[in-house]
Amino acid sequence: MHIEKEKNLSLPLIDGHAHLNELEELEEDLKEAKSQGVLAIIGVGMCLKSNRRILAIAEENPGFVFPAIGYHPWEIKKSEVRENLAFIEENVERCVAIGEVGLDYKAKVAKELQREVLQEIVRLSVRYHKTLILHCRYSHQRVFSIVSDMGVEKAIFHWYSGSLDVLDEILGAGYSISATPAAAYSSQHQAAISKAPLERLLLETDSPVEYQGERSGPADVLKTLGAVARIKGIKKNQVAEITTKNARQLLEL
Ligand SMILES: [Zn+2]
Repeated sequence: MHIEKEKNLSLPLIDGHAHLNELEELEEDLKEAKSQGVLAIIGVGMCLKSNRRILAIAEENPGFVFPAIGYHPWEIKKSEVRENLAFIEENVERCVAIGEVGLDYKAKVAKELQREVLQEIVRLSVRYHKTLILHCRYSHQRVFSIVSDMGVEKAIFHWYSGSLDVLDEILGAGYSISATPAAAYSSQHQAAISKAPLERLLLETDSPVEYQGERSGPADVLKTLGAVARIKGIKKNQVAEITTKNARQLLEL
């Protein structure tokens, strides 16, 4: 899949993770992002309904919105697992990645069921050579073990705020992490960004997540950029250039 337009953008950015189906003013938000220099947005799905919507939004915005479909641990219901996995497999080749998927040990869904689902999804990612976009909460070590033991080639640990020891393992295995606007204030997230080399970092928004009381949109990837540049002590244009290159390589844009 190819990015359509990349002329005249001083700071070309990619928002590597946005729940576009949840944006109340999608058209406005996409326009705003484009005008701010956002080159591409990865729309992520969490369940059948949001996956369908993300695929439709990507189709309506060719060369700008690229789809990833997944099955978020919050959404897992035993009776719906087969249907969700079948949908992912049927549509995975239209997508630049599989996500959002992972483990959330704070969620009410049984841990064992979460792990079974993640393993099935990891199998798909290996079979179809798709990058995984991973959510981990109180489960970073476990997600890393599953992904690396099962031979995943490419993975993005989204909004990484886990321990720095597990981060070492993640980086050692060749995987990447992504930064959100929380990089402006979350010390755990900042520590991870500080430790990861720029070559293993992507920028994102996880919009419409609220950061310090403000709802986000894909244009807020600029806030992520500013925070990462400050943490790393390097110029924004260098951060933009390298993180965009990383995203293009991992997602084959
Ligand atoms: Zn998300």
